[in-house]
Amino acid sequence: MFSVTDSSHEDSHNGLASYQSMKDSILHHLRYTLVHLPQQATPRDWWLALSLAIRDRITDDMVETQVSHTRENVRRVYYLSMEYLMGRMLINNAHNVGVYHEAKQAIEELGLDWEQICDEEMDMGLGNGGLGRLAACFLDSLATLDLPAIGYGIYYEFGLFKQEFLQGKQVEHPDTWIKYGTPWDVMRPEYSQTIQFYGRVEVSYDSAGNCRPNWVDTRSVMGVPFDIPVAGYDTKTVNFLRLWSSHSTEDFDLEEFNKGDYVEAVHSKVLGETISKVLYPNDQNANGKELRLIQQYFFVACSLADILRRFEVMNSDWSRLPEKAAIQLNDTHPAIAVVELTRTLLDDKHLSWETTWDIVTRTFAYTNHTLLPEALEKWGVELFERVLPRHLQLIYEINYRFLGDVEQHWPGRDDIKRAMSIIEEGNHKMIRMAHLAVIASHKVNGVAELHSQLLKSELFPYFDQLYPHKFTNKTNGITPRRWLLNCNEGLVQLFDQYGIENDWPKNLDRLRQLETLQDDEDFLTAFMDVKHQNKVHLAQIIKRECHIDVDPHALFDVQIKRLHEYKRQHLTLLNILTLYHRLLNSPELDMVPRVFIFGAKAAPGYALAKTIIHAINSVADVINNDTRINGKLKVAFLPNYRVSLASHIIPAADLSEQISTAGKEASGTGNMKLALNGAVTIGTLDGANVEILEEVGPENIFIFGLNVDQVQELDRHGYQPYQYYQQDEELKGALDWLCSGHFSPNDPHAFDDIRNSLLQGGDPYKVMADYRAYVDCQQRVSEAYQDKMRWAKMAVMNTARVGKFSSDRTIQEYADEIWTLPPYSV
Ligand SMILES: *Cc1c(COP(=O)(O)O)cnc(C)c1O
Repeated sequence: MFSVTDSSHEDSHNGLASYQSMKDSILHHLRYTLVHLPQQATPRDWWLALSLAIRDRITDDMVETQVSHTRENVRRVYYLSMEYLMGRMLINNAHNVGVYHEAKQAIEELGLDWEQICDEEMDMGLGNGGLGRLAACFLDSLATLDLPAIGYGIYYEFGLFKQEFLQGKQVEHPDTWIKYGTPWDVMRPEYSQTIQFYGRVEVSYDSAGNCRPNWVDTRSVMGVPFDIPVAGYDTKTVNFLRLWSSHSTEDFDLEEFNKGDYVEAVHSKVLGETISKVLYPNDQNANGKELRLIQQYFFVACSLADILRRFEVMNSDWSRLPEKAAIQLNDTHPAIAVVELTRTLLDDKHLSWETTWDIVTRTFAYTNHTLLPEALEKWGVELFERVLPRHLQLIYEINYRFLGDVEQHWPGRDDIKRAMSIIEEGNHKMIRMAHLAVIASHKVNGVAELHSQLLKSELFPYFDQLYPHKFTNKTNGITPRRWLLNCNEGLVQLFDQYGIENDWPKNLDRLRQLETLQDDEDFLTAFMDVKHQNKVHLAQIIKRECHIDVDPHALFDVQIKRLHEYKRQHLTLLNILTLYHRLLNSPELDMVPRVFIFGAKAAPGYALAKTIIHAINSVADVINNDTRINGKLKVAFLPNYRVSLASHIIPAADLSEQISTAGKEASGTGNMKLALNGAVTIGTLDGANVEILEEVGPENIFIFGLNVDQVQELDRHGYQPYQYYQQDEELKGALDWLCSGHFSPNDPHAFDDIRNSLLQGGDPYKVMADYRAYVDCQQRVSEAYQDKMRWAKMAVMNTARVGKFSSDRTIQEYADEIWTLPPYSV
């Protein structure tokens, strides 16, 4: 989209020459790429010119990386994910290629404001939440560890919707991130792929009498790839993310063309234009829509064809494919890939079933991200048969052979066969994508120790018995580049001042050195001064976005994540109502001033989640304007939570809310980002919280509530939420008050659904059962915060001890134990 010009990249050291050459490069792009004089340039022009100048520094290494990977015929990992939540690229790329300081200096020398220029970039928001952000962190770590890797996904024209609040209610707007293009992609029409859908299967026989199924009368669509460079930190490796954009093929409706109905034929290109149009905004919820299945097959078929094309450049023996390619499935969204590879090897390359299946199972591995039943993907057999008839036949064949193995292992046990079958029997037969993924993969991993245990004991007990070494754990991680180096300049400078070795961004365990400073009052004070500055900055954003004044001296209590009942934002709301009630009834109460800060998008079709947003905003409005409480309580719900906003909130957080119902949050990664930036966690024994507790120690975290065993125990013995309501006056008071109309005078029943789900609806996420433990634990948090040095020490110990949660550690484990993938130094 934009021309690439030459620029010297030898002088990418700090110093006069390098920032001068960066400045020259920016001015060069302003004139020759954007065709602007400095006097006419808008902030966006400067952002674009700066981005292109930084991109130039990446280009040579990218070319060299790819040429040498091909020349050496290296083993690669292919990461298949429907979502990549990349956020902004400029600052990250500048840091990773080592030009951050000269870029900033050059912009300031040009008389511009660095933050204002960086704010021009739209987030690349091609994901919903944790799963998509994990994929983005993994790409960063793969490149940083010099691992040959390509990410594959969809080039959505519209990413996750933009969120606005109107009278406290969520309103969605399309995210037009690509409308004016991006400097970070390169279109590669030469690697386009054409793929098939619909149609039917014809059986014919070849001259040797072999059955040759033919998939005919199909409709075709073209995938055009866009490559996003992914530069490793402090290394020459530049991998890339290849995203497929859908287009109509020229012969799309040849029949209509031939009839002479040109306009109709052009109009009917609609499927090709639709597939990559928009990201489905559901998090933790499967969506049975035909277009979603088509999206999945579209990007998987394009990606596999691309992988096989690359293999064939240097190799000819298909049985050696697993030596050259490891394919990781990020959840079941791309699981149809196992059938597509089966189809290609069997139908197109004419390999035997045995050879084909051996190649498939040695190539694929699958990461499970959830135990929630509503999030497990199933496709109706009828829909599947219409869209992918040949793939359905192959799934039946895979299942038939698999059930034979089950019969061998458990003779006569039809109950076990029913439980393990890929096909769920019933009025509407369904294809269980997780079963398909488990059967076709050599490794299956959960994303935190607890989650991986539950995967074996609750979701796949028979599979674990049948395949004893298939199930494993890979605890999630986050990249320390984006989630500390890029977003917390104050803390980075403090590390420098105190002589922390400057390779910590590649070796996060280095921060253990901070433990030696845990009783150094000067250091603790300096650490909290940085936190304070970050809070001042966030207070300005809150003022701008929410028109709320907050005091940076107050405790910043942060809950940022998708809005979902299992994450229990409504439990936080009940605590807010409880504190507000206490304040009004004892104005002298010596309470630590708190600012509750929320960020969360609700899936547009998830009514209760939207009601919870409306309730929090409505309660916020009353509390923030109540002069009786002297500003001791404030509630700010920042709209449009996304990666770039997270980068401002996280460095300013004192307290990190990680309060999911035990057993429901697979891992969480927000918990890791916040702890790394010196926020103390209040949380349940769920997901990676369990491992954060192990790392930071019980004296540096606030754990409360039911554990997994206790949740299961409640379910076994008939959980009765109403009893908690009747027996706890404060709980009853908070919930009744919420639904009294006091907070929604124009619509007194606006929040009744919340109450109904908790009392009549069985409270599936145990909010009532955990309320008292939560409120009491928050009291202990307040007491700890009053002792400034005690709190500072806790905060420092969190930053010091969470090195385990670097995604570099996670990716090294995948490389060693799942992919057997050696690094390659360019
Ligand atoms: C990290 C991140 C998430 C995941 O947060 P959890 O608390 O782990 O659910 C979601 N959205 C964004 C923008 C993130 O950066």
